[in-house]
Amino acid sequence: MRLIVLSIVLFFFVTNLGAQEPQHQGEYVLVIHGGAGTILKSGMTPEKEKAYRSGLEQALLAGYNKIKEGKSGIDAVQAAINVMEDNPLFNAGKGAVFTHDGKNELDASIMDGKTLKAGAVAGVTVIKNPIDAARAVMEKSEHVMMVGKGAEIFAKQSGLTIVKPKYFYTEERWKGLQNAIREEKMKSDHSYNSNGTGYPDYKFGTVGAVALDNDGNLAAGTSTGGMTNKRYGRVGDAPILGAGTYANNNTAAVSCTGWGEFFIRSVVAFDLSAMMEYKGATVRQAGDAVIKKVGDLGGNGGLISIDKKGNISMPFNTAVMYRGAITKDGKTEIYIYKG
Ligand code: ASP
Repeated sequence: MRLIVLSIVLFFFVTNLGAQEPQHQGEYVLVIHGGAGTILKSGMTPEKEKAYRSGLEQALLAGYNKIKEGKSGIDAVQAAINVMEDNPLFNAGKGAVFTHDGKNELDASIMDGKTLKAGAVAGVTVIKNPIDAARAVMEKSEHVMMVGKGAEIFAKQSGLTIVKPKYFYTEERWKGLQNAIREEKMKSDHSYNSNGTGYPDYKFGTVGAVALDNDGNLAAGTSTGGMTNKRYGRVGDAPILGAGTYANNNTAAVSCTGWGEFFIRSVVAFDLSAMMEYKGATVRQAGDAVIKKVGDLGGNGGLISIDKKGNISMPFNTAVMYRGAITKDGKTEIYIYKG
């Protein structure tokens, strides 16, 4: 009798793990995301969907080419993210969302799973590709994270492309800010309570990539404009190692997207790695578990991850997450909605 009960419990446990996603086992070399959000199929035009799919495809191919050329996972992650940073559809680089004060303040981080070296920048306003600056911090400085003006001076000295703040402007994001401010005015202060309920659910749109290179090394990176209407100096999870980004050859490479405050509090990316390392969870079990924890706290978003065997997982608890993956033979998969 005890055995029957145990089998039933185990059956439900196993079948409920990762109920949202088809299995993605082995053979993958690169996974990317272009943010998690709330847009429903009814709110998406065919043109827009096509543009997102092609943006994701271009990013996947840019990263994949690096892997094929025998370059590092870090090179692949950076190349994929650069493509999305330059594409105004995504909330990173050009097309970043606006702060409450009408500025674009960008965050990014990158991590090498072999050496556990990492670099990050936060609150930068003139660096065209923040992921390049994160990489420069990792490779050309003795620090891990630089913020604001200092990060910008360092990026300039490292020879990176510097632009005027207005380079990041897009009309769509500007309108997004006006809508957010309007919606906020309509709510009373009490609706923003400490557990986060009542916070307006804007589309996010951060970008990220995780890769497994030919030498078996893992790498992860994330780049974002943060959240629409964020207040002065606010920094999300994207540049925080262990929260929005993490890579460790012993476990997995992870990049997150979603409501950053919850991802920081849940230390999501490291938690996923820790579950694999300490509990022997698979990348899929660990991914589902950490997103569930974020949801239980009242947050939303998703993540992408890849382990050293090329198994991947892409769980999220929002309506959509723009995402794609490519196998070592160059077979691409692009998804927006669930399932
Ligand atoms: N996680 C990002 C942040 O909170 C936002 C996003 O993923 O779109 O800054």
